[in-house]
Amino acid sequence: MKLFIPDIAYIDPKILKYESSKKIINYLEKLNVPIVNSKKVVIDSGSPEKNYATAKKTVLFTTNGQKKLVSCKPSADYQFSLSSSCPANCEYCYLQTTQGEKPFMKIFLNIEEILEVIQSYIDDNYPKITAFECSSITDPIALEHLSGNLKRCIEFFGKSSKGRLRLVTKFDDVDPFLKLNHNKHTKFRFTVNSRYVINNFEHNTADFHERLLAIKKIAAAGYPIGFLIAPIMIYDNWKEEYKELIDTLKIALEDYNDEISFELIQHRFTKAAKELIIQRFKNTKLDLNEEMRLLKWGPYGKFKYVYKKNESEEIRNYISNLINNNFDNAIIDYFT
Ligand code: SF4
Repeated sequence: MKLFIPDIAYIDPKILKYESSKKIINYLEKLNVPIVNSKKVVIDSGSPEKNYATAKKTVLFTTNGQKKLVSCKPSADYQFSLSSSCPANCEYCYLQTTQGEKPFMKIFLNIEEILEVIQSYIDDNYPKITAFECSSITDPIALEHLSGNLKRCIEFFGKSSKGRLRLVTKFDDVDPFLKLNHNKHTKFRFTVNSRYVINNFEHNTADFHERLLAIKKIAAAGYPIGFLIAPIMIYDNWKEEYKELIDTLKIALEDYNDEISFELIQHRFTKAAKELIIQRFKNTKLDLNEEMRLLKWGPYGKFKYVYKKNESEEIRNYISNLINNNFDNAIIDYFT
């Protein structure tokens, strides 16, 4: 898919001391992207829907001052961020409620300082392995061409004896990573889904075939790989379509003999997310009927609506069987 080009870029004066800022400003100028020298992002497009749309095309280049990392179970020990938000518009996005009315993107250019924080956590946990997730509040591949951060990170982890990196994406611009010395210390996971979910709810992401091509390239480059099937939804012919998905993955990865991990996440929503989704996507086909769901207390201090027990068991068993019957080298990390 085409690389994302912002409509406007804000430059926090703090980043000018970093070498990479010159390259980025040149790149933006060549593309005729308007640049505002300020760390204060102003978005006032007249309505919440328009503010959301404008924010998804606005980028602030700044720094990440986070010194204390938070835990990221079950996928890794800790999470850190090279950027926040992303240019896609997935209707079910779990970040709908956490990034405010104007979820503009931030790209952090103080990569060496971020890596120093990571190193201190690796040292504290020595001699155990420490795993880090860098996709909890962003899609790192979607914004990589605007910073080169992930490339630097993969090289850092490639040299690290006790640090491991994990990321997940719905984008396909993977060519910059194919020749890196990753040392199998970075795991690439791709979020995939049935054709109904991708076509109806995942706007401005790579389409399924683009993702499949990217997965094959990353697998051929020797990276450990995995899939997030998320969010899994029940609709008229969901079983046929999820079968089609697993069959297609199997054919694409026929020659890949290393372990492939699967993480399975059923569709869920909170009351606050529902309100925002309806406001932002007026004709959404998402099933947000609370009466058909089970209210469950989530680890992040919010109630969420998940499928009722019998349905969620049906999803778990059906998808797990599909995976186990098709892949000898699959490991299902979790279903939630
Ligand atoms: S790609 Fe991920 S982070 Fe971006 S909108 Fe979609 S779900 Fe949200």
